[in-house]
Amino acid sequence: MPEQNIAHRLAAGHRLLMDGGTGSELQRRGIDVLQGSTAQRLGAWSGPANIDAPDAVSEVHRDYLKAGADIIISNSFWTNRHRLAPIGLGDEWERYARAAGRIAVEARDDLNPGAYVAGGIATPCIEIGLPGGERNPRSDSESLGRAEVERMFFEVARVLADEGVDFILTEYIGHIDDAVAAIRGASEAGLPVLLGMRHVTVGGTLQYGTSFDDLASALAESGVTAILLMCSQPEEVSASLPVLRDAFDGPIGAYSQIGYQPIAPLGGLDSKDPLPETENDPARLAEFASDWQSMGAQIIGGCCATTPAHIRAMRGILDDA
Ligand SMILES: [Zn+2]
Repeated sequence: MPEQNIAHRLAAGHRLLMDGGTGSELQRRGIDVLQGSTAQRLGAWSGPANIDAPDAVSEVHRDYLKAGADIIISNSFWTNRHRLAPIGLGDEWERYARAAGRIAVEARDDLNPGAYVAGGIATPCIEIGLPGGERNPRSDSESLGRAEVERMFFEVARVLADEGVDFILTEYIGHIDDAVAAIRGASEAGLPVLLGMRHVTVGGTLQYGTSFDDLASALAESGVTAILLMCSQPEEVSASLPVLRDAFDGPIGAYSQIGYQPIAPLGGLDSKDPLPETENDPARLAEFASDWQSMGAQIIGGCCATTPAHIRAMRGILDDA
């Protein structure tokens, strides 16, 4: 494990390269990430692969480490009871989450003991169907209750901490109340907690039009280690990152997606290809990453559809590690 707590590294001004997409990369490599999915809604996502295809999960982590990533994220995005219940694995979430943490930590220990393992935990998105499809669905804190959201983040964070991850990355969060609940719950596990906000806009707002000022105010006493923009298009990150910089005093970062339609094979969209052609090849995304670095981003990486080649290209532009 790294000698320094990530919070200290960031406070000292270091920049760190994070990995790229994990679920999308597993899908690209032929792993079934669509159990329980319909043409309108993602199901359990990539969590089942931690038990069903652990070698593939490990290979993805290893390929990102070989590409130069300083941080890999465990494959535990939706390995919680809410997302696994519809495929009959709700009561077994801990086994899947534990395997996610173990696979990532083992890959790190083998290939680069100085790299960080982030324990990734997304909010369950109870009312989200097609990614970005709803106008303004209720937050998980509204539909499940804030106490349950906190409990879920705590219980998954505790398991991942137990497996040796270095910090928790609460991610794919669109609503401010969910951000507060996620950080509060995950912090109970005792590790630093970073936050990834999804689908920010070219207008410089959070997904549903709320402001970064309101987010920063809500998190003022939370102890959050850093705020990252994630799973947004590169142009959306570029528009929103300066707004986040002005609103929040702590470390910031970004890991964008580059266009991804995971459920396309089920026929819900025009394309049958989950990974359509994109102009954001590795060199192009590295140009965006260079801009984000200039805007103050200290953690840079990729989300859906980005590959080890994208991360390797970003390695070339990052000022320091
Ligand atoms: Zn994504």
